[in-house]
Amino acid sequence: MKNVEFREWAHRLADRMADYYENIDEYPVKSTVQPGTIFAQFPTEPPAESEDMWLIMSDFERIIMPGITHWQSPNFFAYFPANGSYPSILAEMLTAMLGTQCMVWDTSPAAAELEEMMMQWLKTMTGLPSNWHGVIQDTASTSTLAALLCAREKRTAYVINESGFDGNERLRVYCSSEAHSSVEKAVKIAGIGRKNLVKIHTDKMYSMDTSLLREAITADIAAGFMPLCVVAAIGTTGCTAIDPLEEITEICEEFGVWLHVDAAYAGTALLLPEYRWMIDGIEKADSFVFNPHKWMFTNFDCSVYFVKDKDVLLRTFEILPEYLKTSSRGLVNDYRDWGIPLGRRFRALKLWFVIRSYGVVQLQDKIREHIHLAQWLKQQICADSHFEVMAPVPLSLVCFRFNPQTDSSIENLNKINEILLGKLNASGNIFLTHTKLKGQYTLRMSIAGTLTSKQHVQKAWQLIKETAEEMADNLALEI
Ligand SMILES: *Cc1c(COP(=O)(O)O)cnc(C)c1O
Repeated sequence: MKNVEFREWAHRLADRMADYYENIDEYPVKSTVQPGTIFAQFPTEPPAESEDMWLIMSDFERIIMPGITHWQSPNFFAYFPANGSYPSILAEMLTAMLGTQCMVWDTSPAAAELEEMMMQWLKTMTGLPSNWHGVIQDTASTSTLAALLCAREKRTAYVINESGFDGNERLRVYCSSEAHSSVEKAVKIAGIGRKNLVKIHTDKMYSMDTSLLREAITADIAAGFMPLCVVAAIGTTGCTAIDPLEEITEICEEFGVWLHVDAAYAGTALLLPEYRWMIDGIEKADSFVFNPHKWMFTNFDCSVYFVKDKDVLLRTFEILPEYLKTSSRGLVNDYRDWGIPLGRRFRALKLWFVIRSYGVVQLQDKIREHIHLAQWLKQQICADSHFEVMAPVPLSLVCFRFNPQTDSSIENLNKINEILLGKLNASGNIFLTHTKLKGQYTLRMSIAGTLTSKQHVQKAWQLIKETAEEMADNLALEI
């Protein structure tokens, strides 16, 4: 491709992008293609000769677009969002333009120094301790793995990094039974062993029961285990439950256990001063992660990982082969030593664009609006005798189910709600996902899309009610 052709296509794609966002309401939110139908449309061999961009783009529209689930749709209420925004997309275009590899300061000083300043901005914006240090990672899963590796190395005086496990370490990690699966994955990868992850039961709010945490740690010590790390969740994935951080910090302090705080989704709510109570006591924790790529209008991927003790992080990850030695070493941040991969994308740029383009006040307004919409929906559900709210709604996720109160067994209710979810998603009008809370099938409606406004939530609620009532009329037939 020549420069003149690149220019033409870049202009065309800019229009394509603007058209997409102008009409995004109209796409079926969740792709309804059958498994394998996309795959079957590709030639099995790569092209030997150059293909025309027109052809490539027409195949994009014809083959790829129907198989896309539209995460940026205002009718997307599934999982947690991976919301983006115009300024973020523009920054991603520039990131692609530069194609820089931001492994060390020398490989792009502006990337390293902007990242350092963005981490400082985010500390101010969220109320994290000003003497902590932050670094951008790809995902919260990676950040949590980094936390476990740091905890492991600090606790064993960096012996495992040096000599490997000698088989005598009996490390234990604790999290609530509602914690994210990335904790389990990290425990496996860090060599600690899945059996050494202790899942602490939750209270009726689905938050970690700290008296059970204390009991578990005490019992483990008596049995010869070495309690290594507690992962506290601020905003669990199932229902945004908030573990009681202050009580957990006391236990961790007492037993010398690393405390990692996973606020992947809910961290963004810390932009609102009225939500800072969620991290009361954070200065006693050791590490913290949240994902601007979930709720802070910054395109996937961008996860920010903060640590109290930078030296532990560096000692855990530092390597220095000859070809990476630079004269600026020690004077600047070489972020390849702050995490697992060597190569790093220039992710700070989109944070800079987002924070500047919105400004903190407008970011706060948007987050507050999402929270208000969730509270509005919760009220509608509470007022409808055929529905019930299944968990507290501290943020912008509403957990609920259809319960037409016909003395259904739990199995029946689970089945009814599973069918309801299937019907809603197949409609293409909205996309929700589910969880199970204490064995009960629960619909999750996560309201945090950049383009989601009250009218979308109202429409969604209308559709949920109508679909459910229609189903109730035919219940005997369905089950
Ligand atoms: C989404 C989520 C994660 C995982 O985030 P990734 O960035 O996709 O790895 C971890 N913890 C919680 C609480 C989450 O909600």
